Amino acid sequence: MSASSSVSSSPYHEKYHFKNQYEDYSEDKAKPYIDNNAVSTTNRITAKLAAKWGSMLDELKDWTSTDYSVYTGTAGVGLLFFRKNPNDTRNLRNIRKQYLQLEQLKNKRVTFLCGDCGPLALGAIVSYKLDDQKIYNFCIRKLTAFIKVVKNSSSDLPNEYLYGRAGFLYALLFVNRHVSPAPFSDAAITSIVSAMLHSGEKLAKHLKIEKECPLMFQWHDSQYLGAAHGISGIIYLLLQARKYLTEAELTNLIKPTISFLSTLRFPTGNFPSSLGPGKQDKYVQWCHGAPGFLYMYCEAYRTFGDKHYIYAAEKCADVIWFRGILKKGYSLCHGVAGNAYCFLEMFQTTKDERHLYRAIKFAEYCLDYTKQREECTPDRPMSLYEGISGPMYLLLDIQDPLNAKFPGFTL
Ligand SMILES: [Zn+2]
Repeated sequence: MSASSSVSSSPYHEKYHFKNQYEDYSEDKAKPYIDNNAVSTTNRITAKLAAKWGSMLDELKDWTSTDYSVYTGTAGVGLLFFRKNPNDTRNLRNIRKQYLQLEQLKNKRVTFLCGDCGPLALGAIVSYKLDDQKIYNFCIRKLTAFIKVVKNSSSDLPNEYLYGRAGFLYALLFVNRHVSPAPFSDAAITSIVSAMLHSGEKLAKHLKIEKECPLMFQWHDSQYLGAAHGISGIIYLLLQARKYLTEAELTNLIKPTISFLSTLRFPTGNFPSSLGPGKQDKYVQWCHGAPGFLYMYCEAYRTFGDKHYIYAAEKCADVIWFRGILKKGYSLCHGVAGNAYCFLEMFQTTKDERHLYRAIKFAEYCLDYTKQREECTPDRPMSLYEGISGPMYLLLDIQDPLNAKFPGFTL
């Protein structure tokens, strides 16, 4: 069932987005784009991919950065090259040399996206594939040293993706997915999951909302709800890691929390950025608003098998379609490429080609993007989360839509 009828396509808050000029899905409209559940080989996105990749390599020639993170720095560009050619020895050597400044890391932050653990995780995988035992051991040792800090639930470490435990847990699970035998034990993973749940329960009790909402998290004293800093992202990761949760934790903590979060939806179908008074229906982007909820609902459907989660996700998808062509640009974090990934997630969950069509249209927007359209120029124009590497990652990923994964967010 589509929720289109219940979502407004009116110029609601066009301050933040352009009107979506693309025609929505119909079987006829989709025909030139989709062939047997994949992007057709004659499609513009596929045809122009090589040229786009070439012009990006030209821009990268003179690029240097002292930011080594995945989010805005060199490791994010390294991740893009890893996505392009994960088994090519020359490519892997180049990633290690150009994009992973492992010796420069300062043990500052624990997360995959904004901390040391992104470059360390990618470093572990690349050196594993290159059979470089020395660097591999170095990366695993460094990552392991962080476990003790992160599993301590009484520390003031937040739990979200960019600076908190979810971002660290992602790094461990990402390495375990690519390396065999998996270097991080079930016990280590479970200890991080338990710290997150414990911290969530503690805050819910402190806020006296534990009866209706057993888990709550905060970052900088705000209870954010979106994917980057908030609870929808945290729950999405916990559900991806569900084999480390007990039935009781899933049923008694996660499920009722999702039900509570669903009550916060605006009549437009979007979600607020945080709990509390003065909520405004502003953002529809990966970091805030409906996108994070869409992922949470899709993963909840895969976990609990309840179709209601699909309907809830469809409603998010419609908001993203109408309000997702953002004035902030084409980035993953708060731009059109990040929103395009939502449709790929929907396509993977429902196998309904309507969603693939919508993803292709948003990817086309990224492909045709010109600076005139942009109202904010990114500070880090080559980066994965704010710059060109994000939409480039999308254009590669959409060629294999059933296996596309939002980098640094989906496992
Ligand atoms: Zn953002």
